Amino acid sequence: MTFPVPLQQSLSKLSRVIDSLIPRHCLFCLEQTSGNNDLCPHCRTHIQHNKLACQRCALPLSTSDSSICGNCLSHQYYYNQVYSPFIYTDAIRYLIRQLKYHNKIHYAQTLARLFIQSSTQFQDFQLPEVLIPMPMHTQRLQQRGYNQALELARFFAAHFQLQLDYKSLLRTRPTLLQAGLNAKERQKNVKNAFNINKHAHISRLSGIQHIALIDDVMTTGSTLNEAAKILRQSGIKRVDAWIIARA
Ligand SMILES: [Zn+2]
Ligand SMILES: [Zn+2]
Repeated sequence: MTFPVPLQQSLSKLSRVIDSLIPRHCLFCLEQTSGNNDLCPHCRTHIQHNKLACQRCALPLSTSDSSICGNCLSHQYYYNQVYSPFIYTDAIRYLIRQLKYHNKIHYAQTLARLFIQSSTQFQDFQLPEVLIPMPMHTQRLQQRGYNQALELARFFAAHFQLQLDYKSLLRTRPTLLQAGLNAKERQKNVKNAFNINKHAHISRLSGIQHIALIDDVMTTGSTLNEAAKILRQSGIKRVDAWIIARA
């Protein structure tokens, strides 16, 4: 269901007020937490922050000698900037896997909140005009019942008051799960897997310059690059990615 923007804003404010009144408990140890935190301070230490990372693709770096990783120095990618505050280990991996494979759809809110809290540390964090969740092919969507990227994007859109568009970018063919494939296979697997929904009254991309794609995990970046390619080819000037965790 879509609401007009002013009503949407009041509803999201109201839900934040209600949210802050309900006592919360840590998802891991069940201790009561302060504010609207879903994890207690102790359990938060099990989250690995992606502090020393490539300034372009957010790949965790082993030294601070260069701020750009070898891949980004030698390759041209279609995406501009990846923001990913966490490394795909421990607590974050657990939360993402629960969200994706165990129907814990409410973990999207937890993960989105953690991202939002960390976003203040991003250098030069520029908000886009539109958020686009990484689309899922209808076949997989039917199996899973929901798209975890869309669930994350809903919270981002409400928090940052941004337009959410989950209709303009389509996954036009089914692909294998990227997990278990090597870098070359991943690239081949997602090649030409996306397209723009040209249906005039559905596509809202005309006149839009800056988009951020939303996803839970980024590994080699081939899926992101393929999706960014089609967006850039359709005239979008800047395509960023907001990713919860970087592998
Ligand atoms: Zn805890
Ligand atoms: Zn890089």
